[in-house]
Amino acid sequence: MVKLSDGNSIPIVGLGVYKVDNATTGPLVTQALQIGYRLIDTASMYQNEEGVGEGIANSGVPREEVIVSTKFWMDDLGYDQTLRAFDKSLGLLGLSYLDIYLIHWPAPKRGLLYVESWKAMERLKNEGLVKSIGVCNFHPHHIDEVLKMAEHPPVMNQIEVHPFLTQDQVIAYNTQHSILTQAWSPLARGQVLDNPLISKIAGEHGKSNSQIVLRWHIQRGTAVIPKSTSRDRIIENLNVFDFELSEAQMLEISSLNRNYRTGVDPEDRN
Ligand code: NDP
Repeated sequence: MVKLSDGNSIPIVGLGVYKVDNATTGPLVTQALQIGYRLIDTASMYQNEEGVGEGIANSGVPREEVIVSTKFWMDDLGYDQTLRAFDKSLGLLGLSYLDIYLIHWPAPKRGLLYVESWKAMERLKNEGLVKSIGVCNFHPHHIDEVLKMAEHPPVMNQIEVHPFLTQDQVIAYNTQHSILTQAWSPLARGQVLDNPLISKIAGEHGKSNSQIVLRWHIQRGTAVIPKSTSRDRIIENLNVFDFELSEAQMLEISSLNRNYRTGVDPEDRN
């Protein structure tokens, strides 16, 4: 568990469900919760919030033990739009409150609409409908705009991070502002997994390549939400707490950085 600056705590490893269709999502979420996952990351854009809600309901795990995170898409930036998007997501999830609500992209070419959205998110938090509010894909200067007016500062910034994109500057900024960094595509969508250095270190620990990469994130203080639809791999991805990478191994993995994005630079996404 990792503590957020608003006092709430979340698991450092969660399950991402991007590109999992709605019908598959329900059983997958049920299975993940029964295996021991306690954080599920979805978004309105993934079109599987209904599946996430069904998966939780069918799992037998009490609602209050599960951290549910969703996001609204760029077309819903703006005060009223954000409130409407929230109502829709909460309805699809079939929940009475949400644990984490995130702005999916700042879309800066649309001006400061994300700041208007932030005011709406603060209202949702003040009304007790959301426990924690945060952002995704924000560069430091976007967060600066939010902080200028924030009653509740963002507690989390979910950004693309993996050994090919170490994001040192954004992470340092987040840390300085008590904002948890949560890595999306922590495995670079699988692209880091056949790297020879990762394989060598995996051999040294008797762990899988995925476990080495996830452990590297965790030792940097970054939360992770790897996605998998395979039962064996979701078990594997959670089993990263019984070994430690040395400082030298941490540095070796970080040296793989090539500022390579699997996704779009947030500055250009509109
Ligand atoms: P990941 O880096 O999590 O990689 C997922 C890929 O790796 C899948 O192809 C999966 O295949 C494979 N994989 C997972 N675990 C293993 C393993 N142990 N061994 C071998 N292969 C494995 O990519 P995502 O893009 O899915 O990112 C994770 C989550 O981050 C998303 O699901 C979503 O929740 C979030 N996200 C947020 C974004 C944002 O803008 N805020 C953008 C993108 C993602 P298989 O399923 O077959 O196991």
